[in-house]
Amino acid sequence: MNDKHADQTIPCNECQAGHLRRRYLTYFTWLGDELITVPDFPAWVCDVCGRREYDGHAINQLSLLLNPNAGRPRPRAVTRKTETNKPTSPSRLE
Ligand SMILES: [Zn+2]
Repeated sequence: MNDKHADQTIPCNECQAGHLRRRYLTYFTWLGDELITVPDFPAWVCDVCGRREYDGHAINQLSLLLNPNAGRPRPRAVTRKTETNKPTSPSRLE
């Protein structure tokens, strides 16, 4: 394997001991009410504390891909009122 990124590491600023290494994970993001999963998404994972950071460049590209949808007008917030629409029971007052 001649992956030039394979030996590239970033010092972890979470645990100060480990190094973030190039990994490919499944990235999850929400687009509106739809869950988008992106397999083999480039990320950095610490070999000591397990801290994960998704690749910023890849995130930018992904947001560009999803941009047409992001430009849509916001869906109206659905506020579901719990209205008690009981038929007025005939009150028998004599
Ligand atoms: Zn760490």
